[in-house]
Amino acid sequence: MLNDQVAIITGASRGIGKEIAKQLASKGVRLAILGSSEDIFKTKDEIEKEGSGNILAFRSDVAKENEVDHVVEATKNAYGRVDILINNAGIGMFKKVEDVTVEEWKNTFEINVQGVFLCVKAVLPIMKKQQFGTIITVSSDVARYTIADKGTLYTSTKYAVQGFMGSLLQEVRKDGIRVGTINPGMVDTYFADTKQGEEKKADWLKVGDIAEAVVYMASAPKHMQIDELHLHPLIQNYPRP
Ligand code: NAP
Repeated sequence: MLNDQVAIITGASRGIGKEIAKQLASKGVRLAILGSSEDIFKTKDEIEKEGSGNILAFRSDVAKENEVDHVVEATKNAYGRVDILINNAGIGMFKKVEDVTVEEWKNTFEINVQGVFLCVKAVLPIMKKQQFGTIITVSSDVARYTIADKGTLYTSTKYAVQGFMGSLLQEVRKDGIRVGTINPGMVDTYFADTKQGEEKKADWLKVGDIAEAVVYMASAPKHMQIDELHLHPLIQNYPRP
C-alpha cells in the first residue's frame, strides 16, 4: 500500500518527524522533508545512508506561504504526485498568560496552526486531481483538554488544529482524501527546548511509537478513514475527555 507513494513531512529535522521520515522511507515511500534549520539535511543524509534511496530536503518555514508552495511544487515536479502529507512541525511555548508577548502568541499560532493550513492548502489541488490522498497531523492530547498553568497559548493552537482537521475531513472526503489526527501525550523529543533521551523521560512515549501510529494510519486500506488516535505513556495521568 505505501510502497512508491509520495509523502511530504514537515518538521523532520529531529524528534517525531525525523522518525516518521525514517519509518516511511523504510516502507518504500518517496519523501520530501522540511524543517526550518540546517538539521534537515542531516536527516536526509542519515536516511540516504540507511539505503532508502534519494529524498528531497528543504530548509523551509511552514509559516511562510511562498516557502510551503515551493516545497509542494518541487515535490510534484520531482515525483509527479503527492499522496501523503504529514503535518508534524510544531513548537511548544509555555508561559503564564500575562507573560506571553503578542509576538510569541503570533509566532506560535503561525507555526502550529497557519503551518498546517498552508501545507493543506498547497497539497489539496494535487490530491483532488488524483482523487486520492492522506493528510495526517501530529497534534497533541491538549487538543482535547486544557492544561493548568502556562498552557493557554500551546493549548489554544492545538484546539485550533483539532477544529481545522475535523472540518477539513468533512470538506474533502468526497474527493477520496482521508484526514486523520494523532494526539500524543508526553513524547521523548527535543520539544520545548528539552533534550531527547533525558533520564526523566525514560517512561515517556518514544518517537517510534508515534511513527508507527502514522504508518498504521497511512497504510489503512483506501476505503478506511481513521479519524483520531490518542496515545499516552502509561505513567501519564490526564483528564479523560
Ligand atoms: P521537536 O523535537 O522539537 O521537533 C520539532 C520539529 O519541528 C523539528 O524538526 C523542527 O525543525 C520543526 N519545526 C519547528 N518550527 C518549524 C518551522 N517554522 N518550520 C518547519 N519546521 C519547523 O518536537 P517534537 O516533539 O518532535 O514535535 C513534533 C510535533 O509533536 C509538534 O507538533 C508537537 O506539538 C507535537 N507533540 C509533541 C509532544 C511531546 O511531548 N514531545 C506531545 C504532543 C504533541 P527545525 O528546528 O529544523 O525547524
